Amino acid sequence: MTATAVLSVASEIYPLIKTGGLADVAGALPAALAREDVVIRTLLPGYPAVMSKLESAEPARAYPSLFGGPANVLAGRAAGLDLFVVEAPHLFDRIGNPYLGPDGRDWGDNALRFAALARVGADLGRGAIPGYSPDIVHAHDWQAALAPVYLHYDGGPRPKTVLTIHNLAFQGHFPGSILHAIGLPPRAMSIDGVEYFHGVGYLKGGLQFADRITTVSPTYAREILTSDFGMALDGLLRARASDVEGIVNGIDDTVWNPATDAALAVNYSALRIDMRVRNKAALQQRFGLTVAAQAPLFGVVSRLTHQKGLDLLLEELPDVVARGGQLALLGSGEKPLEDGFRAAAAAHPGSIACIFGYDEGLSHLLQAGVDFVLVPSRFEPCGLTQLYGLRYGATPIVARVGGLADTVIDANDAALSAGVATGVQFAPPSTPALAYALKRAFALYADDAAMRRTRLNGMRADVSWRGPAKRYAALYRALARSEQ
Ligand code: ADP
Repeated sequence: MTATAVLSVASEIYPLIKTGGLADVAGALPAALAREDVVIRTLLPGYPAVMSKLESAEPARAYPSLFGGPANVLAGRAAGLDLFVVEAPHLFDRIGNPYLGPDGRDWGDNALRFAALARVGADLGRGAIPGYSPDIVHAHDWQAALAPVYLHYDGGPRPKTVLTIHNLAFQGHFPGSILHAIGLPPRAMSIDGVEYFHGVGYLKGGLQFADRITTVSPTYAREILTSDFGMALDGLLRARASDVEGIVNGIDDTVWNPATDAALAVNYSALRIDMRVRNKAALQQRFGLTVAAQAPLFGVVSRLTHQKGLDLLLEELPDVVARGGQLALLGSGEKPLEDGFRAAAAAHPGSIACIFGYDEGLSHLLQAGVDFVLVPSRFEPCGLTQLYGLRYGATPIVARVGGLADTVIDANDAALSAGVATGVQFAPPSTPALAYALKRAFALYADDAAMRRTRLNGMRADVSWRGPAKRYAALYRALARSEQ
């Protein structure tokens, strides 16, 4: 059996550049799939953060003009990843967030920037680089979603395509006037092409033409077929329902390993779970919380956006504090939410503390120190923070949506008596339901044996990429073998 070759097209990848879960997935799949005899190379934009880490880069293909300037595709490695990089200074030589300018707004030419990424992805898929001809082009999110679209309109033989939705909320919707600039034919501007609300929909187009559509949990795969979660694409997704599959994300359990993690005050494992309390103290100190081993400590690591449901938590904070609980929040995002948490911290010094910003190391210490990690999302394609929580013995309290529903076993009476609970779920995502979940969490915390068991169950759950990698490998292999 020969290995299956996959070109993964992604706009971010851990550890080179990351704004969210997409980067973690794109970064983890190559190593996880290597064990399944799948060889993945990733195509990335040549942001400074990528260019500066590229080792032994070789020019593999030149574009005299790629949407407004010359470009090269470089083949090289960085951080152990096999990469192709689109070196196009007019599009990607910009420091910082890959999508936003210094004013915090989308770059005005994002339509061109990510059409260029997809254009190159399609070209490489068709063998534009001698000696490289992947069986599958795997596009991630709207930024890469035009790859299957170009492959369709180019005509002729093409590799099979997969499009993964990491978050349906981000769709890449642009004015219809860009169609010509991104090199799509006028006939693409139709309901069964890229046309979307009178403009061009990148994700919409990808969903139309990808051979298979995946998303990052089975529950989210079902949810996006409904108008409640479908974000106006549910009709198209329902039409393609037989090609939609949910594969839950794993985590990199070498990076996220409490036994070796250098960001912790003290390392521990399931066998030495009592050591966690020293991380709890370190975390309380770092956040300026009262150092109290017995206080139930809740944690949040999150983008602060409506999706994440943290406004629900804000309403419950006085009650959490009144019951003797503490909150440590690490996050950044929308100003009203930051202001809300800042005010809560000011009102409850020693009990509520926030650090606004993005800090990878601190996110590790937080998972190692808190008793519960809160993820009250209104929707959540997969969610990674609850998986890190499980691995680190931080019991997740989650809304029963998307991947949160698929990865946490609610500590209801049946699960507790069977000894299989790993966290607390609540539904719907509302303040009363969260309030009840918090009440259950306090009760669980007060029951030493049940709490310990729940924590250990979480730490022993397999949240690695091993299971998901097998699913992706099966998908790739079936697709590579299928007729066009
Ligand atoms: P999303 O991709 O919607 O933001 P996920 O839960 O899938 O949500 O992934 C979020 C990732 O970003 C996790 O790895 C989480 O630890 C990390 N993260 C979010 N906010 C911060 C922050 N302020 N500091 C450090 N890491 C963060």
